[in-house]
Amino acid sequence: MLKRGPGHPSPLPSTPVKSRDESAAADSAKISPMMAQYSAIKGENPGSLLFYRMGDFYELFFDDAEIAARALGIVLTKRGKHEGMDIPMCGVPVERAEDYLNRLIGQGHRVAVCEQIEDPAEARKRGGKSVVRREVVRLVTPGTITEELLLDPVRANSLLAIAGGGQGPERVFGLACVDISTGTFIVASAPEASLEAEIARIDPAEIVVPEALLAVPCLERLARETNRPITPLGREAGEGESAARRIKDYFGLATLEGLGALSGAETAAAAAAILYIERTQFSARPALSLPTREARDTRMEIDAATRANLELTRTLAGARDGSLLAAIDKTVTAPGGRLLAERLAAPLTAPKEIEDRLDAVAFFANEPFLRKEIRACLKAAPDISRALSRLALNRGGPRDLAAVRDGLEAAKAAAAMLTGAGLLPQELARAGEAATGIDPALAARLRHALADTLPLNRRDGGFVRPGYDSILDELRALRDESRAVIAALQARYADATGSKQLKLKHNHFLGYFIEVPQAQGERLLKPPYDGQFVHRQTMADAMRFSTKELAELEVKMASAAGEALAREETVFEALADLLLGQQAALKGLAGALASIDVAAALAELAEALDWTRPEVDGSLSFVIVEGRHPVVEASLRVQGLAFAGNDCTLSGLPGKGGRIAIVTGPNMAGKSTYLRQNALIAILAQMGSFVPAKRAEIGIVDKLYSRVGAADDLARGRSTFMVEMIETAAILNQAGDRSLVILDEIGRGTATFDGLSIAWAVIEHLHEKNRARALFATHFHELTRLSEKLGRLDNLTVRVTDWNGEVVFLHEIMPGAADRSYGIQVAKLAGLPAPVVTRARALLAEFEAAERLAHADRSVADLPLFTAATPPPALAAPSDRLREALDAIDPDGLSPRAALEALYQLKQLRGKPII
Ligand code: ADP
Ligand code: MG
Repeated sequence: MLKRGPGHPSPLPSTPVKSRDESAAADSAKISPMMAQYSAIKGENPGSLLFYRMGDFYELFFDDAEIAARALGIVLTKRGKHEGMDIPMCGVPVERAEDYLNRLIGQGHRVAVCEQIEDPAEARKRGGKSVVRREVVRLVTPGTITEELLLDPVRANSLLAIAGGGQGPERVFGLACVDISTGTFIVASAPEASLEAEIARIDPAEIVVPEALLAVPCLERLARETNRPITPLGREAGEGESAARRIKDYFGLATLEGLGALSGAETAAAAAAILYIERTQFSARPALSLPTREARDTRMEIDAATRANLELTRTLAGARDGSLLAAIDKTVTAPGGRLLAERLAAPLTAPKEIEDRLDAVAFFANEPFLRKEIRACLKAAPDISRALSRLALNRGGPRDLAAVRDGLEAAKAAAAMLTGAGLLPQELARAGEAATGIDPALAARLRHALADTLPLNRRDGGFVRPGYDSILDELRALRDESRAVIAALQARYADATGSKQLKLKHNHFLGYFIEVPQAQGERLLKPPYDGQFVHRQTMADAMRFSTKELAELEVKMASAAGEALAREETVFEALADLLLGQQAALKGLAGALASIDVAAALAELAEALDWTRPEVDGSLSFVIVEGRHPVVEASLRVQGLAFAGNDCTLSGLPGKGGRIAIVTGPNMAGKSTYLRQNALIAILAQMGSFVPAKRAEIGIVDKLYSRVGAADDLARGRSTFMVEMIETAAILNQAGDRSLVILDEIGRGTATFDGLSIAWAVIEHLHEKNRARALFATHFHELTRLSEKLGRLDNLTVRVTDWNGEVVFLHEIMPGAADRSYGIQVAKLAGLPAPVVTRARALLAEFEAAERLAHADRSVADLPLFTAATPPPALAAPSDRLREALDAIDPDGLSPRAALEALYQLKQLRGKPII
């Protein structure tokens, strides 16, 4: 597999095909001119499967054929010989190529598409053995696709170029993120510590980096642990002046000043992205927008582990279904879906911008009828940006023109509805303007030009409406008239020869010909007919003839039909140019429609699920009243169950830092759900959405961390505990007083006392050094003692009741510490055999008794902060009477009931009251 570009084994034939001259010298192997051409082109495109155009097929040879046949499940055959060996071959029909490309790209391959760039007739003119000229016209890579079939409609398809800035831990990388399917071009920078989080946010389909950067630890890890394609570039992209020149040349700019102050690394990254696009697209020019610089710290930083953990855009298993995105997506257009995903991936940090988005959602929340109408109207709006990109790359079809036509239509209607609604919030007012800022003549022109039903491919013709172009109309008349002439000619010949079965037919070999049954054919070979009818072919039961008149007519017809098609191409290109001339405005309109869609969709969601508008400001507040977990709530709803809303207060004061809540409670009580829901509410609020709570007050969170202890990570081949510690270390090194930290059972992955000590020290550090707002779920009850010592620490627990010896989860968070862990009750619920449960109860009582004895004289909470933990207490020796009683018990011989009684007896001997 060619996952990581040219570094991988290249699918070149293992024995290189020799050139023509060489093979002339070597008398054993005769290499055909075609194979020589193939071999040369293949050699220029290492690391890619070569789709070699042969008429109506793309064919693959040698190793490529074997790889593709396996990847696509198609037949591997052979064609000719090379050095006495069969040449493996497989092929895909050109009209289904997109489908096959899709599957190959999906499996991490890159494909070089090699076309015939001259008419075979031209080649023939050069002599019998000449091969048709061929050239690679495009490299298809995961980050540079534009075809509808290859793209996920609701996901951006980004190419990310990274360039390095300087040396050492302080270095700042330049990032250029380009989606050639829409033309978006964003430039940003990130220090090494944030690089991984930025990559996770962008979630690129492909990364290109200078070879030298492959050693950067996070990129090296990404290459090793994920199957994200990473393509190394040489030094050609350039730095400094040469990089700047590349950008200026591409966009036809005299200076880069208009783009904001790009750093050296940012300039180099943008130049690398452009270089890679030029390399893969050859002469085609994607319609890229000018690079927009994204200032740092304008987005909440969320690292890859946190994103995965909170299942923001996909679940831990990798599915979209079950993610937060899937739960909140009520958009009705693909661009709206992409914008929503983008906003969810990058919540804002400026309260004003967040308020703008919230105003738009609130507007639609208050206007249910308008919202319904606008959504109905948007539903008909196609994906204008992607259509424009295909047109710019000369890969567009008539339906892409129609997409713009229908998009303009929808925009006009939506804008009219908005302006009719009175005073608009800023975001919608802006969107309304963008949606109407296009010359109405453009839509009229498209309506006039395009036929009602449109073919997929422009070469099929027939998409221009009659009456739009007079030259085309004339050519079509001529073409259609010729068809009538053929029919008349057939009748005339039938009459003249007295052969009722005479037919005028057409095929690729003969063109037009006259066909008559065998017996009648014999007559036409003789006078008086032989002067007029020229014999062409004898079939099993028919004979075929031609005439001079027919040949002439054919030439005329062929040229009329061909000219009509060519004329349609001209019309197509004129329309495409017209649209591309207004590209910026059209993209603005597409963006406006997407933002209207998102605002209306979030309002729809808020109303359907009873969500409220959060209050977001620059403080360190964090107050959630009756918050819910949107995904868990949705899945409970399906089962007819209610979700218990829970409050959360972590507010702190500037300079002092936020509060930390320790959440204890049995397994299955709802601790993890509670932790995550509060993180999700912060994300939703800052992306500009209403939130699942009665009330939410959130002081901007700049970085969000969420970690789960002992998560299985076998795929990455690291010990789970190691992962847990690496991730915890990252938080302790990076979190600040604006961060929100969610730690779920950290320390679970190792022995109890190790784990407890680590958890203890982590909380102390968070409280004293990071000062972040934090939630910490744990099964170490001992940690609750920390509140005696740390001023901004609260203890929370999940309410559980015992009902007839069964544990009942109420999922209610309240102040306090869990009194016991209920682990055995949960084990019983899970169906552990009764004797095991009883035995466990007995053992628990014993362990607890022993431990209490050991701890009688001191409390771990008395330890000074940041000192080494005490050595783990050993089980102390129980008193003699207790020991005797214990010795007398034969556990294997006890009934569950007797075991319980024995336990009570032991407790009494210890002189402890029975709880
Ligand atoms: P814990 O982390 O304490 O083991 P979880 O958070 O994993 O518990 O929750 C276990 C299950 O309890 C969830 O899958 C969900 O079905 C249910 N649950 C959790 N919180 C609530 C809630 N607030 N209301 C209703 N059901 C809940
Ligand atoms: Mg849990």
